[in-house]
Amino acid sequence: MNGPRTHSSGSSSHKILVAGAGIAGLSAAFRLQRAGYDVSVLESASHVGGRMWTEEAEGYRIDTGAAMLPDSYHQMRRLIHDAGLTQEVRPSGNVYGFLRDGRIHRFGKRLPLRLLTTRLLSARSKVRLLRLAADTRRLSDRLSFRDLTTVPEADESCIAYTDRRLNQELFDYLIEPLSTNYYFAPPDELSMTHVYLAAGSALGTGYFNSPDGVAFLPRGLARHLDVRHRTKVLSVEESGNTVVVTYTDHAGGEHRETVAACVIAVPGPQAAGLWPAMPAPMRSYLSRLRYSTCLHVSFGLSARPREPAMWIFVPRREHPGGLGLCLDHNRAPGRAPDGKGLITLYWPTHTSEKLYDLPDPEVTARALRDLDRLNLFPGLAQRIEMTRVSRCRPCVPLTHPGSIAELNDGLRSLDRSSRIVLAGDYFSFGSTNAALTSGEIAASRLTVTLEAQQPNRPG
Ligand SMILES: Cc1cc2nc3c(=O)[nH]c(=O)nc-3n(C[C@H](O)[C@H](O)[C@H](O)COP(=O)(O)OP(=O)(O)OC[C@H]3O[C@@H](n4cnc5c(N)ncnc54)[C@H](O)[C@@H]3O)c2cc1C
Repeated sequence: MNGPRTHSSGSSSHKILVAGAGIAGLSAAFRLQRAGYDVSVLESASHVGGRMWTEEAEGYRIDTGAAMLPDSYHQMRRLIHDAGLTQEVRPSGNVYGFLRDGRIHRFGKRLPLRLLTTRLLSARSKVRLLRLAADTRRLSDRLSFRDLTTVPEADESCIAYTDRRLNQELFDYLIEPLSTNYYFAPPDELSMTHVYLAAGSALGTGYFNSPDGVAFLPRGLARHLDVRHRTKVLSVEESGNTVVVTYTDHAGGEHRETVAACVIAVPGPQAAGLWPAMPAPMRSYLSRLRYSTCLHVSFGLSARPREPAMWIFVPRREHPGGLGLCLDHNRAPGRAPDGKGLITLYWPTHTSEKLYDLPDPEVTARALRDLDRLNLFPGLAQRIEMTRVSRCRPCVPLTHPGSIAELNDGLRSLDRSSRIVLAGDYFSFGSTNAALTSGEIAASRLTVTLEAQQPNRPG
């Protein structure tokens, strides 16, 4: 049998490989290439984007992973600008609905005013809610998409926080739906840091999106880059002033390439598997990191329901296990043909796990039963002209209480001058913007390291 083909050229001192063409890897690659390095991205799938992807189905456009892009994603807006993609985005829907007793209570940009007048919550709960507003405000300077370790005192479970500061009604109609249907995480497994971030950055803000789907961004970045599809990274090892990356190409051939540096931008547990010499505390954090699972079903409709919300939270109190309903045609332009509608039902982790391996027709039948039971859109079943099931595993990191201390230990164990750096959505609240930001941080850290170790900068 032939051994791996080895590649090591004179140019290896300026060559950087990025493992993974999700938004973390692509943003790292884009910034490194702009800094003058010769970058290639190795991606095991046949397309870029990872969990930031859009599929076409019978004239409908389905965002299979990430869907919402709030205006608070400043790093993403800057990258869109720098990659010349500004023309591709426009303002999009921003109205969230919360279901209670069969009625949808809506919240848009003017959140504080609506909270005063809404009948979703009792007067007593509204007064209690001021505590959450005050706590979020107090932490807001330190809550960031870069790093959650800056708010260690906020790392308690949503349930513990509710017991300490809120009440049962706020738990049932705000905290639980946010946890279960925004992060797909059970509230006892989600750190409150995520709720503060959602409260501070996703509710009461504007949103943007592209008519071409969220994949416009990974596709747009990839147009500037050398991406090798169906290329799976097997291991990454630092050796003196070089890094050796072993991978299989699209034809199954094994290669060992010697380069100046490598960014590992794959989900946490996989990253731990690729880097045998990863410092133990970081390895322990990443290999134990759990992700939520999400199963969702999209229905293309011959006519739109009259509901204006882009997303409806259905709390557990209103439906067993709770769920999220996305009205994609309200969420972003271009998701359904003119006059038609697109609705997606998202199950939380617990239900998604139970249904995940069932055949599509059974999953669809269950989704229809759930919609029927909610009875929000009478006659909907007769308007369905397209159905699509999407399975997402991993979905988003379940940053459980206590994990921020573990992440902190992990980060401190990393050698800041290493030629291997990590990027991904596990440094802050699991989102495209956190992944993108981590990619940019990885790029700037590598640039500093390489400039210090090889002063003849490229470019
Ligand atoms: C259902 C769902 C809904 C979401 N909703 C939102 C939302 O509304 N807003 C938001 O901001 N975020 C949302 N997210 C989260 C967001 O999509 C992710 O946090 C983000 O896209 C992660 O990007 P990443 O680059 O870190 O990882 P990924 O996108 O997972 O990219 C990793 C890439 O590495 C590749 N890879 C893996 N192993 C290897 C290997 N050995 N060799 C080479 N390549 C490899 C994978 O194929 C993949 O392309 C959602 C996610 C899901 C699943």
